[in-house]
Amino acid sequence: MSDISEVVRVLRGKRGTFRSVVPFDLGKTGPLVFDFSERNRELGGIDLDDPVKFTAYVFGELRRRGVPVGVGCYDEDRVVYRGRALFGGGGEHRSVHLGIDIFVESGTPVSTPLAAEIHSFANNETHGDYGPTIILEHRSEGVVFFTLYGHLSVDSLAGLRAGGRYAAGEVIGRVGGSHENGGWAPHLHFQVITDMGTWRGDFPGTAAPSERERYLELCPDPNLILGIPNMPSATRGRLPLDPHFVEPGGLENIRT
Ligand SMILES: [Zn+2]
Repeated sequence: MSDISEVVRVLRGKRGTFRSVVPFDLGKTGPLVFDFSERNRELGGIDLDDPVKFTAYVFGELRRRGVPVGVGCYDEDRVVYRGRALFGGGGEHRSVHLGIDIFVESGTPVSTPLAAEIHSFANNETHGDYGPTIILEHRSEGVVFFTLYGHLSVDSLAGLRAGGRYAAGEVIGRVGGSHENGGWAPHLHFQVITDMGTWRGDFPGTAAPSERERYLELCPDPNLILGIPNMPSATRGRLPLDPHFVEPGGLENIRT
């Protein structure tokens, strides 16, 4: 395992060198940033547990604005999990999102942003889960960390073996459709993890609010890699002075 401050230091040092995880320049295009928290009143009128309706909402918004890519924020306390038993029926919901979601059409290739070795993979098939998932291990300057790719297509897992290697920018899989990705609008869930513990092929992508701080210490802001300049909603409600968080306005304004 690596200390999160070491991982953040390495990622900041490699800024500008990462290959894009989807075939769009997220740093330039300025994707549409979705708000899946209760602040988004539009969500109240949508059955969020219905992937067809959720997909129609997300991709309808993208088409309406003429933007090819949408993103969902890191450290966002979401309402979209409330209807799903997997996220905590009855008890405290695991509502805090630990990755960044990238909404693109199913079949879109997904690439590793830096050289990697396959740590593990699995099809997490429970409704609402990741579906096909790949976890990559990266080593840089003696620091080890992991990236997780969730909601892939089933055929993304064909022929994989733990320990297989990828060069930076190599395609590792494709974004899955709603029928195979856990029942969501097509998107990539991208998460950075400093310590996998005993997890293999899976790792929590959301945390209960009471466990938020503990999980944010394991999962730094994926925007350290993605470099999306317009992630304003991510910081709403955020504690100030968190060293692992990318400020709105992009990487220019990172706190040290
Ligand atoms: Zn996600």
